[in-house]
Amino acid sequence: MSSLIQSDDDPSSTSNNSHENHIDSEHFHHDSNNTRSSSSNSSMEKQIQEINQQYQSRIQISTNDLGYALYAQKHFAQGELVMKSRALSISKIRDAHSVQTHWNQHATIDLPARFINHSCQANVGILDNSLGAFDFYAIQPIEPGQELLWDYTASEWEIRSFSQCLCKSVRCRQVLKGFKEDGESVRKWYGKYYADYLKEL
Ligand SMILES: [Zn+2]
Repeated sequence: MSSLIQSDDDPSSTSNNSHENHIDSEHFHHDSNNTRSSSSNSSMEKQIQEINQQYQSRIQISTNDLGYALYAQKHFAQGELVMKSRALSISKIRDAHSVQTHWNQHATIDLPARFINHSCQANVGILDNSLGAFDFYAIQPIEPGQELLWDYTASEWEIRSFSQCLCKSVRCRQVLKGFKEDGESVRKWYGKYYADYLKEL
């Protein structure tokens, strides 16, 4: 999903704790790797074309120097629904494309939302929906051409791979640790726009 984070972790060394709530480095490199692999990528490219056609007046999947990314094609007012997402599969184990929707519950979501990148200064927030995933809302006015960005800390309880954040925002946390550590900033910055299960706290 997000490629804005660089991890020092060696993915091959994370097998010991693969059942725990952490983000492995693949999570943040997977998409950019896909972007660069050419011939085996035609199915994904076809999917992206279809999604881009479907969402053309609202959102486009594109790429930037860090991999896939979502860009607004219209003005979104603060509080406006940007896109819905749906859980394609749910697992107790985090994987490269999952987002955390409950304690020990990780959903792999559909396109285009799967390609929204992380920022510590997000312009898009999440609310739980009835599709096992999140709806994404503009939490500030968004102009055409702006990248859509959400904050991964708004859904992930614990990020344990010491991932170096590359979001470059003025309030970048540098290292993403998850809601467990940074929940106060999520509440302060995003109000109601974070995962419901974290509101039980
Ligand atoms: Zn950051």
